[in-house]
Amino acid sequence: MEFTVSTNSRQELVDITNEVADAVERSGVKSGLCNVYVPHATAAIAINENADPNITSDIIDALNKIVKEGVWRHDKLDGNAAAHIKAAIVGPSETIPIEEGKLVLGTWQDIFLCAFDGPKDRRVRVTILGK
Ligand code: ZN
Repeated sequence: MEFTVSTNSRQELVDITNEVADAVERSGVKSGLCNVYVPHATAAIAINENADPNITSDIIDALNKIVKEGVWRHDKLDGNAAAHIKAAIVGPSETIPIEEGKLVLGTWQDIFLCAFDGPKDRRVRVTILGK
């Protein structure tokens, strides 16, 4: 299945745990794997904490410190090389175990769409395998 997330700012981590958990429940799979994938070159999927919203801001700030803006070859083409590099660092997917019909996430873990070149509509694809 697939759903769309509309982002509101240039860089944003959006908690998509509920959408993914709903997809797992609707699938009826009790034991298996859930892959969450973003088919975009400037977005990524991460699993991390959402209880303290500072964490998502800290992740964005850390990536901004690692990856400078406007100094890359691709910036001459469409000015968003930093977004591509951040997406490459975080990666386009995560795979989460399913046990007893539920995602096996730690107490402090949530699933995030990481959008580095917004605001935009981003598609998220959820593939569930199991029985
Ligand atoms: Zn580009």
